[in-house]
Amino acid sequence: MVKTDIEIAQSSTMQNIIEIAAKAGISSDDIEQYGKYKAKISFDAIEKLQKNDNGKLILVTAISPTPAGEGKSTVTIGLGDALNQLGHKAMIALREPSLGPVMGIKGGAAGGGYAQVLPMEDINLHFTGDLHAITTANNAIAALLDNHIHQGNALNIDSRRVIWKRVVDLNDRELRHIIAGLGSPINGVPREDGFDITVASEIMAVFCLATSIENLKERLAKIVVAYTYDRKPVTVGDLEIEGAITVLLKDALKPNLVQTIEGTPAFVHGGPFANIAHGCNSVLATTTALKAADFTVTEAGFGADLGGEKFLDIKTRELPKNPDAVVIVATVRALKMHGGVAKTALATKDVAALRSGFANLDRHIDNIQSFGLPVVVAINEFITDTADEIAVLSDLLTAKNVAFSLTQVWAKGGAGGLDLAEKIVKATEQENEFHYLYDLAAAIPEKIETIVTKIYGGSSVTFAKKAKTQIAEFERNGWSNLPICMAKTQYSFSDDQTLLGAPEGFDITIRELVPKLGAGFIVAMTGDIMTMPGLPKRPAALNMDVDKAGNISGLF
Ligand code: ADP
Repeated sequence: MVKTDIEIAQSSTMQNIIEIAAKAGISSDDIEQYGKYKAKISFDAIEKLQKNDNGKLILVTAISPTPAGEGKSTVTIGLGDALNQLGHKAMIALREPSLGPVMGIKGGAAGGGYAQVLPMEDINLHFTGDLHAITTANNAIAALLDNHIHQGNALNIDSRRVIWKRVVDLNDRELRHIIAGLGSPINGVPREDGFDITVASEIMAVFCLATSIENLKERLAKIVVAYTYDRKPVTVGDLEIEGAITVLLKDALKPNLVQTIEGTPAFVHGGPFANIAHGCNSVLATTTALKAADFTVTEAGFGADLGGEKFLDIKTRELPKNPDAVVIVATVRALKMHGGVAKTALATKDVAALRSGFANLDRHIDNIQSFGLPVVVAINEFITDTADEIAVLSDLLTAKNVAFSLTQVWAKGGAGGLDLAEKIVKATEQENEFHYLYDLAAAIPEKIETIVTKIYGGSSVTFAKKAKTQIAEFERNGWSNLPICMAKTQYSFSDDQTLLGAPEGFDITIRELVPKLGAGFIVAMTGDIMTMPGLPKRPAALNMDVDKAGNISGLF
């Protein structure tokens, strides 16, 4: 019987977090412990590490995934463990999970098999309370904004043009569109409102891009929440509440330290989705890991067209250095799906489908190489893979002249990733010629067109009337010099989730733009992507339980 992730996690022995911190060169005085196995790193500790040089940065991304995920977190963790087994000093920097996927379709996000971060239940559930702090900070802005309107509206806010939504960290389609403030005048001013999932909140993005408490406060002040009756933007700074919102976030901002099953130190901090947000863990965690270790392995969400592109065009601008090398995780089962196999039949051998689905991986490799970075493909092996399929995939990758490694970290932990680790170390030794995809000074439509044509393989972009009006307005407001954060389905290069493989010649529709000035980017909403997901017919929640001793089951 194959053990489940939670069974493996529960049977692992953890080291005290003080020992894990010591491996990262952080003393017990510089950590704030949350029990024996979790800690936050103090700002003092971060300051002390600044004297160290930056280590190498390895980004882990993937092909366009199946709904279950292709094992990016698993490979990130296994690669960190493998690097340590080879005698390097490695750290891992991951995102913290959202309860939306945990309760919904995808399950937990703490890796899998023998490549997991621990304590897996805590990390997947309330952890150190960061998601709570972010949700509360977001909703405090909403409450203070509505109160401002109720109390006389000195800023002349047009309540029909409030763009700040409330959030909850669950998939709850019922809350997408609501009417708030119903009742009599003492109950507020009625207006159409709606909820997003917490991980899509601009607070999450600001939190993940902030470099210090001061920088967090400056960013919060810039957040646009509404427009006045004469269409002037109203910010958190105009409401004079950036101090209060920073207060709510100051402890959450400290990176969380945990460990892998093999005792590798790992930061798990911040968690925006990569389809509806920028998809990367916090800049503070990544920059701290860079100072604490010789190799930092980090992950960006979903495929290389989403999290990968955003890591390189958005997050990297806030980092002291660009990645030295990139791992693209691929699985035989997802390539077969891209080759036309139904999701229910992915465990059945199908070499022809694999060959045709390779086009998806092929394009992701070209895309990442086009940023001037070396690529190593990690074939994340599943027990259902056949020797013939692995041989065909290896031949295709050899013909493409790209480094690759068959990786068994799910089954074996770090020992299953030694070859990958050796190849990635070699890749980081090459001089890279990293460059951003687009010039920030380019016009908004031009930047979007560059992403669509150069990364997605599309041929054109249609801007809906609303998006066109917004582009003109953003230019007038002086906001056009920002990077673009595309909100797009993770399943396809296009905005149609049924177009698998490597579609070409398609058009992408931009229906709306959302200014996120605190985060410092503009979100472009494509197709029918939603910032509040729904639950599937049979949510993962139906499998979960806890016994009288508090032991959890069914959390993947
Ligand atoms: P991603 O980060 O790409 O979303 P994860 O690493 O979270 O993917 O893995 C998604 C799920 O797939 C997890 O439940 C994990 O246990 C499982 N998984 C990952 N790799 C393998 C593998 N090689 N064999 C079996 N299951 C795997």
